[in-house]
Amino acid sequence: MPELPEVETIRRSLEREVLNLQLRDLEVHEPRLLQNCTEKELKRALIGNKVGKLGRRAKFLIFDFGKHSIVFHLRMTGWFSLDRPQKPRLILKFDRKTLYFEDTRRFGTLHLTETKNLSELQPLAQLGIEPFHPSYTLKNFRASLQSPQEIKRSLLDQTKIAGLGNIYACEALFASKIHPERSASSLSAQEVKRLFTQIEKMLERAISEQGTTVDTYRSLDGVGNFQNFLAVYDRENQPCIHCKATIERLEQGGRSSYCCPKCQK
Ligand SMILES: [Zn+2]
Repeated sequence: MPELPEVETIRRSLEREVLNLQLRDLEVHEPRLLQNCTEKELKRALIGNKVGKLGRRAKFLIFDFGKHSIVFHLRMTGWFSLDRPQKPRLILKFDRKTLYFEDTRRFGTLHLTETKNLSELQPLAQLGIEPFHPSYTLKNFRASLQSPQEIKRSLLDQTKIAGLGNIYACEALFASKIHPERSASSLSAQEVKRLFTQIEKMLERAISEQGTTVDTYRSLDGVGNFQNFLAVYDRENQPCIHCKATIERLEQGGRSSYCCPKCQK
């Protein structure tokens, strides 16, 4: 599933292509995509308007058409293309170019909202603090970890820290030398600070590499490169890059965690 760096990479590529373009028409080919509106309502709200801004909140992409905005979540397999894919789920026809949304597994979602009510929209309203946002301060970060829950699971909880998924949670914990099964509230002040800093560093680096390509992720510019820099994720039974101990895979809440038993305390 695309995480913050991948969605940010997609946002930037979309911004280059469709910012300030007027929407001429749209076609919905997958009714399941629309969460809170009909195709007719979507057309009435958007056609004739320009994309004034391309935003992102955690893993959500926001096309701001002025009075109204649409909010996408790509889930497992959603992606955008300027070339017609085999089965487009949504077609946005702009001046001069057409943008296609494709989604093999069809878990992707689209919400329509008045832009002034964006922050109260249900999937966005409950999101926690997120890296690169002014609300991401050490104080808020520390407060979001006041829980007996395992630290890895806290990092994946979008109501606490938004935008992280399995890959970057594993990598940030490794870079911070913290074992994923530690209880969040057991972290020392120094460990919290290290994790706080490593998360932004990790995400920044991943964005500069256009994200991590696993499964079907791609932006309009192609695939990412950060998979070549992963230290623990999906490296079970391979040697740790620091100490050569064998990387372990653990099950946590139905997800795989990867860690070095020696480096991560
Ligand atoms: Zn190690």
